[in-house]
Amino acid sequence: MKIALFGDIHANLEALETVLADAKDQGCESYVCLGDIVGYNANPSECLEIIREMGCPVVKGNHDEDAGGDHSLEMMNPVAAEALQWTRDQLTDEQREYLAKMRMVRQVNDFTIVHSTLDQPNIWNYVTNKFDAMSNFSYQFTQVCFHGHTHVPRVFVRGDKVYDAPSETFILEEGLKYFINAGSVGQPRDGDWRACYSIYDTDKKEISFRRLEYDIETTQKKILAAGLPDALAKRLTAGR
Ligand code: ZN
Repeated sequence: MKIALFGDIHANLEALETVLADAKDQGCESYVCLGDIVGYNANPSECLEIIREMGCPVVKGNHDEDAGGDHSLEMMNPVAAEALQWTRDQLTDEQREYLAKMRMVRQVNDFTIVHSTLDQPNIWNYVTNKFDAMSNFSYQFTQVCFHGHTHVPRVFVRGDKVYDAPSETFILEEGLKYFINAGSVGQPRDGDWRACYSIYDTDKKEISFRRLEYDIETTQKKILAAGLPDALAKRLTAGR
């Protein structure tokens, strides 16, 4: 069975629709969302409703937590605070309650999903190298765990190997443990602006990373029209 793993959508409706259409074309029968449905871009409510309607397994991201909570914005940097307040204002109380109640960690089939790391999922640590990945592996009891959060697609293998998302299909080896970042749908940060998600073929034990062009101009126009900070539109082109 082919499973689509996608996260860090960040309210980018054009990128989300492109990814879901591609996953269908690729023959994916099942979908798993790795969190951060909202934040940064201009369609939080629409993206959230698509995910809810799909009824797929989903875990909470830090932006979902921020948008669903009502902690004070005073200590945040002004751009982030402005964007977060805007996002909260777009969502109904019921939508925010849904975000607040999302699970942090789930097991799906024979793998685990988490937005940040399994060792402290609510602290939102970023895994950028093999040392960061080590603490996660101590708490990973399945061969594979998919995550997001850094917006950089990457494969961490327990021990000392780290691979940037390979363009070719990646084959899982028996006896090794993998912590796999599926990449970001709505705000990639690896220098490639195209929407990213992963496909796990459970029969072949293969992982592939998909990169897709989408209508970025529409996304950027919506950000500006909403009065969100310009920087959020610019960074999409840069893929940072
Ligand atoms: Zn994110």
